[in-house]
Amino acid sequence: MPRVRLTRKVSFSSGHRFWNASLSSEENKKLYGNWASPYNHGHNFVLEVTASGPTNGKTGMVVNIKTIDDMLQKEIVSKFAQKSINDEVPGFADKVPCLENLLAYFRDQISDLPEKTVLEHLRLEETPTFFGEWSKDGDKVTLTRIYEFAASHRLQQDAVSHDENMRLYGKCNNPNGHGHNYVLEVTVGGKPDPVTGFVTDFEGLDRAVTERILDRYDHKHLNTDVPELVGKVPTSEVVVTEIFRALDGNVPGVLERVRLKETDRSVFEVVRGDL
Ligand SMILES: [Zn+2]
Ligand SMILES: [Zn+2]
Repeated sequence: MPRVRLTRKVSFSSGHRFWNASLSSEENKKLYGNWASPYNHGHNFVLEVTASGPTNGKTGMVVNIKTIDDMLQKEIVSKFAQKSINDEVPGFADKVPCLENLLAYFRDQISDLPEKTVLEHLRLEETPTFFGEWSKDGDKVTLTRIYEFAASHRLQQDAVSHDENMRLYGKCNNPNGHGHNYVLEVTVGGKPDPVTGFVTDFEGLDRAVTERILDRYDHKHLNTDVPELVGKVPTSEVVVTEIFRALDGNVPGVLERVRLKETDRSVFEVVRGDL
């Protein structure tokens, strides 16, 4: 029986803080960096829940959406909405309410799915440029940061004729180039820190991406200004591969995926293991 995946989205607003009251200010600062504060801040969290199962021959459904909604309402929304996670959600009194720990908590809470239905994936968005994911495959949690850079390029192979370049690349072969506002998603996983629960050092990740990519790619001409692209055709396939190579081993944690959006309609990605 073929399995079908379905995804349901819920959202809730909650407060949380990164602060261990039994530690000094300096120790908290060391653990949580700029996030350290004894006071709450809040997010409109968006949770996407993906489950899979065989389609029932009679109902035509994998699982009734209402069953999923009722469970999400009972197990998650009612416990988190308009609450301070540190103070009001059972289990978080002495657990850091980071995306990694929240995803692990949701994974456990959503275990009670109807027969033959399996929880496959969770995606929890904290801000439009920061989300975490849990996948059943490998029971893995990853974090993704979203960045932007603007750059120009020209798609052209010097070794082939003008007509052949025009045939291959069309408008993208314009001799004076053209540009994109590229959206870059960098996904990192790894072993959660036993104290903070973090799989990566966030500020370190931002620093690495800024230094190794954004500072070198933003407002540049990819054919001439970026050494690893000189002499290559800077298609998004080539660019996303070079970005993965430049970041791999140079970010805190394990680089799991790099995704490059050239436009809203064109998305390219390299996943660890594919290179
Ligand atoms: Zn937060
Ligand atoms: Zn282009």
